Formats: sequence, C-alpha cells, structure tokens
Amino acid sequence: MKEYDLIIIGAGPAGLSAGQYASRSNLSTLIIDSPIPNSQLVNIWDLENYPGVFPAVNGFDFLTTMQNQAKEFGAIIENHQILNIAKDENLNVFKVVCQEAEFSCKAIIVATGASHRKLEISGEKEFTGKGVSYCATCDGPFYKNKTVIVVGGGDSACSEAEYLSAICSKVIMIHRKSSFRAQKSLAQRVINNPKIEIIFNSAVKSIEGNQKVESVTVQNLNDNSLQKIQTDGVFVFVGMIPQTELFENLQKDAQGYILTDEKMQTSQKGIFCAGDVRSKVFRQIVTATSDGAIASYSASEYIKELNNEVYS
Ligand code: NAP
Repeated sequence: MKEYDLIIIGAGPAGLSAGQYASRSNLSTLIIDSPIPNSQLVNIWDLENYPGVFPAVNGFDFLTTMQNQAKEFGAIIENHQILNIAKDENLNVFKVVCQEAEFSCKAIIVATGASHRKLEISGEKEFTGKGVSYCATCDGPFYKNKTVIVVGGGDSACSEAEYLSAICSKVIMIHRKSSFRAQKSLAQRVINNPKIEIIFNSAVKSIEGNQKVESVTVQNLNDNSLQKIQTDGVFVFVGMIPQTELFENLQKDAQGYILTDEKMQTSQKGIFCAGDVRSKVFRQIVTATSDGAIASYSASEYIKELNNEVYS
C-alpha cells in the first residue's frame, strides 16, 4: 500500500489548486481523478472571467496548465475508480481502496465537483450521443451549420449557447422562466445575439427521432400549449448534482452539497472539501481554486498537528 500525507480526490480546478499548494509545501500528495476525467472546465471554450488571465483562454488548456503546475511541484496525478474510503481511528490514517490499487494518507481533500443534471424526459437517454449532449465544446463541431436546442437559463446554458452560435446556423434556447439566471453581461450578450432565438416560460417535454434526434416537443408553461420544433441536436445545461457518493457520512446541506467551515474542514476530522461539491453561495473557477488553496493549508496544519509539529 502506497502512503501519502494527503490524497486529493478530483482533478478539476479545486483539486489541482489544492495539489499545487500541498506539494509546494512539501506534503507528499496524490491527486486521484476518475478513470474518465470529466472536469467542467473542458466545457468552457473561452474562460474570460478568471482574474489575471487575459485575453480569455480555452478551458482545456487552462486545466492542462494547472495539471503541469501541480506536477511541477511534486504532486502525483493518477486515474482510479475509488471503491471505498475508511479511517483507522487508532492510527489516524485513511485507507483509500481503488479497483486496482490501495493507498493510505493522513488527510483527504474532497474535490469531486458536480455532474450534469438530466432532464429525465422521454428520448433523453435513448438519444444521448445521438443528438443529445451535455458538452458543447465536445460535440458542438458536429452541428456545423445546423439547428440546435439549448435547454436551461444559467451561466452554462448561456455561455454554451453563445459558443454554439458561432458554429451552428441557429440556436434555440428554451428556458422555463421569463428571464435568465445567468450573470447579467452574459445573459445580455445572448439576448442580443442574432443567431440565438429564446423561448422563455417553456419546457421541453420529449425528444423525438429515429436513428438520431429530429425534433423536440415544447410546452408553453403559461397556456400549456404544445409545439414541435425540428432540430438536429439538444444540448442540456440544467444545473449540477454534487458528487458525494463516497462520502455518505459527511454532513451536507439540503441540496446535498458538503458542509464545511471557513477552513474547508468537513464534519469529519481530517477530511477537507473544496470546489463545486462544497456548500457555498458562488460556484466559479476562481472560488474553486481559492477553496483548494485553503483546504490544502488546513490539511497541512492538521497533518502538522498529527505529527506534533505545531509551535505555540
Ligand atoms: P445553474 O446555475 O444551477 O442553472 C441551471 C439552470 O437550469 C437554471 O436556469 C434552472 O432554471 C434550469 N433548470 C434546472 N432544472 C431544470 C429542469 N429540470 N428543466 C429545465 N430547466 C431546469 O447551473 P449551471 O448553469 O450549470 O451553473 C452551475 C454553476 O457553475 C453555477 O454556480 C454557475 O455560476 C457556475 N458556472 C460559471 C461559469 C462562468 O463563470 N463562466 C460558467 C458555467 C457555470 P431556474 O432558473 O428556473 O432555476
């Protein structure tokens, strides 16, 4: 069993920031990412709101730079399917059991992020990969000069609709409310974009097609009338679900996000938490990297205490 001071679970901006800070302060640090990495960062075409990064950079490039930076300071990044995490209270160590490896560590940072919420409507599952997508950067180029539907009204839906409008002939946004939840400047750009048509107060009820998506049925939520809209693709951006399966015992808020104090300490000693999986008011890359830095500082203090290295 390989031993580390710190194991960070998740290699998005929170996990990589924590990894960089931890390894730079000389903690032996393993960052475990899932076998199929799925950081939301790769979905961001133009990252335009990270302070100090100007002009905008591509999300995938930004993530690659963060990985290289963490590795440069000594962090190890590996991909594993984690099966179980348990604490040996006598030895004060955590055992992380993966499908093909086992590790032990003194502290853990949970940076598992959040995954895409589904619409849970007829045709969504059947046509996933055949016209239904949750990633514009990944699948947008397949819809060059075609018509696509974007569902949702938050930052993701608006920024992805903007990205798709540069590729597709037409983007139709369908949102259940009468205005966007997205940040004002982004929402305004979408409203002003001549290639984006917006249908407010409406919900997609089903997705239809044969081999691939051909149309959606949309319900007007004011008068309940239904209309069929022809489309080549449906991009779904209706929010996120926190990834907490491995941490059933940690205290969470009503939405299932992990509760921490301001030091990123969770309800279990030695387990810290950072990024989108954490209960907080504002989920951004900049707040994820900030969480990561604080969590790694707190983990480092905790490990010093375990090692009796604290000076009073
Ligand atoms: P979000 O902010 O939670 O927005 C989800 C949107 O989907 C809302 O408009 C919501 O409608 C709608 N929705 C939820 N469930 C639905 C359903 N079943 N059917 C139809 N519509 C549904 O999620 P997000 O846009 O994915 O963003 C997640 C977090 O990442 C946010 O904190 C966001 O600020 C952040 N983010 C930031 C950036 C950036 O800064 N560049 C980019 C992307 C994401 P209601 O409005 O009616 O609730």
